[in-house]
Amino acid sequence: MKKLPKTKKVGSTRGFGPRYGSTVRKRYVKVIADLKKPHRCPQCGFVRVRRVSVGVWRCRKCEYTFAGGAYMPNTKLGTIARRAAKGAQVEVVHRTAVAVETDSVEPAIEEETTE
Ligand SMILES: [Zn+2]
Repeated sequence: MKKLPKTKKVGSTRGFGPRYGSTVRKRYVKVIADLKKPHRCPQCGFVRVRRVSVGVWRCRKCEYTFAGGAYMPNTKLGTIARRAAKGAQVEVVHRTAVAVETDSVEPAIEEETTE
């Protein structure tokens, strides 16, 4: 059986063959390569963190489970979100205070309309 010389298929897209186009396959390889390599644990510092599910990461050393990016445990956006969440706590308290105020106003209006 003679086979035509094929271009070497890279990494995890071997099973894809010519499908989805080279650009998409290259992007897939980049993301999956990042996903598959062990990451450092933010708790114990060991490089034993693996992805359990999309956005869920667990350290195999200390069993520390945490939320992260879909394909990597830490994303730039996640860091920004965490920072925003810390600052937003004051804002959330303020919002609930406003909500309570509006709640107390609403029945008063209802009373006026029924009269
Ligand atoms: Zn750990």
